[in-house]
Amino acid sequence: MTVTIIGGGASGMAAAITAASHGNRVFLLERQARVGRKLLSTGNGRCNLSNIHADTPGHYHGTDPSFSDYALGRPDLNVRATVDWFGSLGLLTVSESNGRLYPYSNMAGSVLDSLRFALDNPLIELHTSCTVTGIRVRDRVFTVQAENGVFRSDALILASGGAAGGKVGGSMEGYRLAAELGHHRSVLFPSLVQLKTEPAYPRALKGVKAQAAIRILSSDGLLASAEGEILFTEYGISGPAVFDVSRSVSTGTGNLSCELDFLPSWDEGQTVSWLMSRRDAMKGRESQTLLTGLFHTRLGQVICKYSGFTSQLVDSLTDADLARIAHGIHHFLIPVTGTCGFDQAQVTAGGLRTDEFDPHTLQSRVVPGFFACGEVLDVDGDCGGYNLQWAWSSGRLAGMLANI
Ligand SMILES: Cc1cc2nc3c(=O)[nH]c(=O)nc-3n(C[C@H](O)[C@H](O)[C@H](O)COP(=O)(O)OP(=O)(O)OC[C@H]3O[C@@H](n4cnc5c(N)ncnc54)[C@H](O)[C@@H]3O)c2cc1C
Repeated sequence: MTVTIIGGGASGMAAAITAASHGNRVFLLERQARVGRKLLSTGNGRCNLSNIHADTPGHYHGTDPSFSDYALGRPDLNVRATVDWFGSLGLLTVSESNGRLYPYSNMAGSVLDSLRFALDNPLIELHTSCTVTGIRVRDRVFTVQAENGVFRSDALILASGGAAGGKVGGSMEGYRLAAELGHHRSVLFPSLVQLKTEPAYPRALKGVKAQAAIRILSSDGLLASAEGEILFTEYGISGPAVFDVSRSVSTGTGNLSCELDFLPSWDEGQTVSWLMSRRDAMKGRESQTLLTGLFHTRLGQVICKYSGFTSQLVDSLTDADLARIAHGIHHFLIPVTGTCGFDQAQVTAGGLRTDEFDPHTLQSRVVPGFFACGEVLDVDGDCGGYNLQWAWSSGRLAGMLANI
């Protein structure tokens, strides 16, 4: 049987290797000059390729969050099986304390090279710089029109990715191609993306990193929370903890704000006691130096300013003043104005409607022989290796079953 795969990213490469291992002849079509360009940028160049918690519920989202359960839970496609599969390609992995899995080499290039070597198979015909422009299907024969050729096959797998990460391959192409076959998509929005906020404080703190708990608040209450590293930028805030809550900003309505807690392991009472001891030790100094030693110097100054204290002497701060500073440390509120766009996002939330695909095969319910996998579907995962795990599991499932 012959299978055409549109997209040589994570899921398309996994699908191609798997389809060939089941004896199929494969055309793998990639519009960029090389396969796996986005993969090289993942995990800050280290490629956070999975997460040991990816089999546990709650990490995937979409109109039907259970759609991904089957592929991710199948014993031959789950995290353990994925690690073994990469092992069979020569790639060893290590997990970090937060469950994130990385290549032992700590280089995304190792993941890509292992996949590239496996693509070097007489059954796989790889065409790069090959943009697919149209698809036709007649009597279950798929005719795929590319800028530099026409490919005919018995099955077609769409692995074109989503709109996120435009500079490394993200585009709207896959949705348009699927629409030619009668498929529909849900509303798309950027996820795992930086937040735009009222700029005054982030701008003053540009480049500063801090450990914090972050809570996204709307008039209805708490929308999402996370804890970890945040980075202040020219236009707002970034960093892993921010990515974790960004989906709630994309989907949230009304006035949103983010509340930062710079000492999440302490309660406010403990913080006040500590500030009292610092007041005694810092006599004669300006109040904006009170937090020196606890936070990055600029962050300490900004928290004091936010709480209303700058040049007065530390000695003059009353207990009530210290309580205000402690409140600023634990409840630093910044109005949120939105998220950055798809180009900056790591993943697209929304995608091809999953009720139009069978979760057990990833075959279209509209066009038999047509499959979709990876980010082009309405499935998005949390930050931490979950999106690549979905790419591997879904790509391999489609590759396994494309000859049914
Ligand atoms: C900067 C960045 C960092 C990330 N870091 C991580 C991480 O550490 N861990 C994690 O789990 N996830 C991470 N992600 C998300 C993850 O990379 C994606 O979810 C995953 O790559 C999706 O795989 P895919 O195969 O569906 O799509 P992609 O990997 O995007 O591949 C799709 C491919 O299809 C090609 N294509 C599109 N249209 C056509 C066409 N018409 N003709 C031919 N080819 C076409 C594209 O050029 C692309 O190569 C990151 C994303 C970004 C942008």
